Amino acid sequence: MSPRNEPTFRESVDLMFNRAVALMDLAPGLEEKIRVCNATYTVRFGVRLRGQIQTFVGYRSVHSEHMEPVKGGIRYAPSVNQDEVEALAALMTYKCALVEAPFGGSKGGLCIDPRNYDEHELEQITRRFAYELAKRDLINPSQNVPAPDMGTGEREMAWMADQYARMNTTDINARACVTGKPLNAGGISGRVEATGRGVQYALREFFRDPRDMAKAGLTGSLDGKRVIVQGLGNVGYHAAKFLAEEDGCIITGIIERDGALFNPDGLDVAAVHNWMRSHGGIAGFPDAAHTAEGGAVMEEDCDILIPAALEGVINLENAARIKAPLIIEAANGPVTAGADDVLRQKGTVIIPDMYANAGGVTVSYFEWVKNLSHIRFGRMQRRQEEAQHKLIIDELERLSADSGVGWQLSPDFKQKYMRGAGELELVRSGLDDTMRIAYQSMRDVWHGRDDVEDLRTAAYLVAIGKVADSYRAKGL
Ligand code: GLU
Repeated sequence: MSPRNEPTFRESVDLMFNRAVALMDLAPGLEEKIRVCNATYTVRFGVRLRGQIQTFVGYRSVHSEHMEPVKGGIRYAPSVNQDEVEALAALMTYKCALVEAPFGGSKGGLCIDPRNYDEHELEQITRRFAYELAKRDLINPSQNVPAPDMGTGEREMAWMADQYARMNTTDINARACVTGKPLNAGGISGRVEATGRGVQYALREFFRDPRDMAKAGLTGSLDGKRVIVQGLGNVGYHAAKFLAEEDGCIITGIIERDGALFNPDGLDVAAVHNWMRSHGGIAGFPDAAHTAEGGAVMEEDCDILIPAALEGVINLENAARIKAPLIIEAANGPVTAGADDVLRQKGTVIIPDMYANAGGVTVSYFEWVKNLSHIRFGRMQRRQEEAQHKLIIDELERLSADSGVGWQLSPDFKQKYMRGAGELELVRSGLDDTMRIAYQSMRDVWHGRDDVEDLRTAAYLVAIGKVADSYRAKGL
């Protein structure tokens, strides 16, 4: 959390927004219309647990309805509050605009520490919360489509979807009321790891342009880059794992609730994750130095820092000591507006949250489309594609034999080439394309305008421009 002398999370988002709109020429009043949060619903409900009624407080904030449904996760954490959900809802608006997911922005939260309840109790609480939201159309396939966030996952989404379906027995599109569901409840392949995958694709795109690398004083490729990850939850874990296993990154530091692990030769991300699961924390993990003062490891020398947990972890207190030349915000709002100023002046390059963690909502969009179309991606074309590929292979082999050249296609090539795309391949392809195009739109502004010094401002300019366009198109 940011120190007390810093603006709140929502104010911080507004400050960043203001920095960008100062460079735009928006119609009078439109700036404020876009910035403000349209509505925030607070609900207090009781659930009978362990022989007594417990009261819970939940929120669903709708930031912008320039496109509907509105979209955004539901967070379970004891610290959830109105300011936070409003900041997160605003970020959802900009995120969806930037990656061209056709949604407005929303976010929800429940003040609860899920670790204090067993599964059955969590189901009762979640179903009751979903009931409260659904009866006000704050869960609805065409109005408001929640998804997982911190403290929630497939299990909670399945309960919510089922609760909505029970309340709307004739809604043929009921499954599209939330995303991030398990596959057997209408989910889509690749959603769980989507945000982490998106972080990987974002970094790959960054390293494709020497001008971008030069801004951070980096050269080469992702291979061999030293990475520190703060938070080994769903997003941090997948991002770190993919970067280590597929791009040759060396994960030198992992910061968690109970301290940090550091090993300059690299940590085995999957092994740390398994250790965490069975021991409840990272302390005691062999093959690495453990320090209880985890935050200090964010200040270690590295090439890429990935804050992947809470907002405000890089703030005025520690920003000046951050050595990483490149920060990618896998979490929402990990850098406060004040810290952003300090880092910008130091020349640190920040790949901003609204872009960096947009992989989740992008694949949520695919899931929502899948639910509305009632068919799995790839079901119609996969075997047809395979048949086409086989035709080419057979023809090549025939030509080679007939002409006496005697070429042999390797069995590995044949197998890879023949395979038609299934749902997972299509999701990855759609996500990769989305992350590349969105990055390129920021990059064009970053390098193309003298008055834009950083990627965050570029991201806001692109996103706000798109939201403004859709308001204009509505005649507002
Ligand atoms: N909670 C995620 C986010 O902050 C995903 C939202 C969604 O899939 O709708 O982007």
